[in-house]
Amino acid sequence: AKRKGKNQVVYYHSLAEDLEYKNTLTLENDLKFALKNGELYLDYQPIYIGFKESMTGVEALIRWDHPVKGRIPPNVFIPIAENGSFISDIGEWVLEESIKQSVKWRESGLGQIGVAVNVSKMQMRNKNRFLEKMDLLLDQYQFPPEQLQIEITESDIFFFDGEIIEFAKELREKGVRVALDDFGVGTSTLFNLKNMPVNVVKIDRSFIQHVPSEEFDCKLLKGLYQVLEGIGMYVITEGVETAEQADFIRRFSDSKIQGYYFGRPMKPAQIALLLQQEFAFHQAASDHN
Ligand code: C2E
Ligand code: MG
Ligand code: MG
Ligand code: MG
Repeated sequence: AKRKGKNQVVYYHSLAEDLEYKNTLTLENDLKFALKNGELYLDYQPIYIGFKESMTGVEALIRWDHPVKGRIPPNVFIPIAENGSFISDIGEWVLEESIKQSVKWRESGLGQIGVAVNVSKMQMRNKNRFLEKMDLLLDQYQFPPEQLQIEITESDIFFFDGEIIEFAKELREKGVRVALDDFGVGTSTLFNLKNMPVNVVKIDRSFIQHVPSEEFDCKLLKGLYQVLEGIGMYVITEGVETAEQADFIRRFSDSKIQGYYFGRPMKPAQIALLLQQEFAFHQAASDHN
């Protein structure tokens, strides 16, 4: 956005840019402080397979409620942590926190819930640090690797360079699921999937936004599913906000779905509640039979 002199009108600037220009340094310090003082926390968004009664996992989404500035979205503060080169500290905290949380749900009898964790490009560049920490955590918490999903954002990747391929490959070898996030709106091509050791593709929410009202979008999404499932990928569509959208996908795939329709990112206790309700629902269904 254009930034003008003091008394001139600024025509457009996003919150992100504003924060970036004015406050990066203060924010960077505040963020370091927040990490050290336990001010960061995770919300969890349910991921469903089938209908609303079967949550298979959750995605951990980091949250920061700044004491003065209020909630700052991850899209704003993650880049700050990357530039300040403490993203790996945050990333390790996120990984441990989400594994711990999943174990807590398991220990309260709610079953083993898969957990998806986003990683940023600097963490992939520092892959050995990440992988060593991950090994330690999986071991320490006796966490099944196939219940962990690591999400790589497609647009983070300009080329699928060797380091990232190596990172994904090592994760896959350990049995961890690797997802390509925000698929279809980044800079990579479909052909990149040939060399990318991922087994999950998360279709960006822009593909579902105008479904089912716009015919083109419906055909595109359905076609994309055919391609992705045809090459053996597990597909997850993000950003499903209505029953109509969910029904549309259900007509041709029994893939996982994530979005506000199924549940917003929420506190661990709310996830537990949903799992309990689900349990009661299945119980009632089997009593009935
Ligand atoms: P993402 O990984 O693609 O996560 C999904 C984002 O879409 C989340 O935004 C989520 O709240 C939002 N969302 C989910 N369902 C819907 C829906 O139905 N409609 C709409 N409009 N939005 C929906 P959030 O939490 O603001 O996170 C934004 C991005 O920040 C994430 O995108 C992810 O790339 C990044 N991020 C979040 N947590 C972490 C983290 O722990 N580490 C790293 N490196 N990045 C993170
Ligand atoms: Mg994600
Ligand atoms: Mg992401
Ligand atoms: Mg996404």
